[in-house]
Amino acid sequence: MVDTKKIQKVVVLGTGGTIAGTAASASDHTGYTAGQLGVQHLLDAVPGLNNTLQGAVLACEQVAQLDSKDMDHATWQLLARRCAHWLAQADVGALVITHGTDTIEETAWFLQSVLQPSKPVVMVCAMRPASSNEADGPQNLRDALVVSAQPLAAGVCVVCAGVIHSARHVQKVHPYRLDAFSSGDAGPLGRVQADQVQWLSAPQAAPVSTGMLAEQITRTAVNQWPVVEVVLSHAGASRRVVDALVQAGVAGLVVAASGNGTVHHEVQAALLDAQQHGVQVRRSTRCQEGSIVGNSSPWPDMDGLSPLKARISLMLALLAESGA
Ligand code: ASP
Repeated sequence: MVDTKKIQKVVVLGTGGTIAGTAASASDHTGYTAGQLGVQHLLDAVPGLNNTLQGAVLACEQVAQLDSKDMDHATWQLLARRCAHWLAQADVGALVITHGTDTIEETAWFLQSVLQPSKPVVMVCAMRPASSNEADGPQNLRDALVVSAQPLAAGVCVVCAGVIHSARHVQKVHPYRLDAFSSGDAGPLGRVQADQVQWLSAPQAAPVSTGMLAEQITRTAVNQWPVVEVVLSHAGASRRVVDALVQAGVAGLVVAASGNGTVHHEVQAALLDAQQHGVQVRRSTRCQEGSIVGNSSPWPDMDGLSPLKARISLMLALLAESGA
């Protein structure tokens, strides 16, 4: 039972993002450059850090320094490798990862799927740059450290604006406001207020990983990872995008279907042809909340995952199948 768990060391991994961003003016919340400050700098700005740590030792490592809109598979591979390294250390109780908001939900799902960590891996971000006179990063990072020390915490989660989201359900839903994330119908895992965590639903104890996928992800060159793309079904859609992708040799396609899984007839025809060519096709709704109910299709659904997370799951499934 994890209740008696005592954290000896928390490792904070920096990857960039707005939380590490700077602008020329302290009042500029939009015209900034993401990924400028190192992770130690971000920790130095956390108010009352020593109280937050409750005796735990802190270590940090700069894994990447980028705007997460540019997140790529090579950085994911490196991050998975560093997370696996630290998680395997007996004296490490938890990881905290600073990350940009734009793709944090994708990195969270990737890491959850690959590592399935039983220790907490708390991802954290900010909507305002570190140079802002109203920066939200320091408080968010403090909240993340608080969550990382929670006896009940397990697996990958995202902390922003005092809300704890699971890797599976979190989605960025707003381009500007501080509370930019939602867990949709599932609701958040919990809240952090004044260093107190209130769990609203118990984090799922992650299944113990065999480590096989993590090992495979780490050793397979990223240019060998199966290419899986997302195609959008929309008014006025044609088969052009699907045909071009098949021509380019994709291994898999996730269709972001409208409503309850409906797909424009031209896209549908192209996807059926793609399947004939051996391309793996999956379906997911482009609706922000809920998942497809009934309404069967020629392609399997992705268990309520968003199209972006379904892309990751299909890519990993194809990689596992390939035995690369
Ligand atoms: N473009 C930034 C990033 O994702 C946005 C942010 O972090 O809020 O790195």
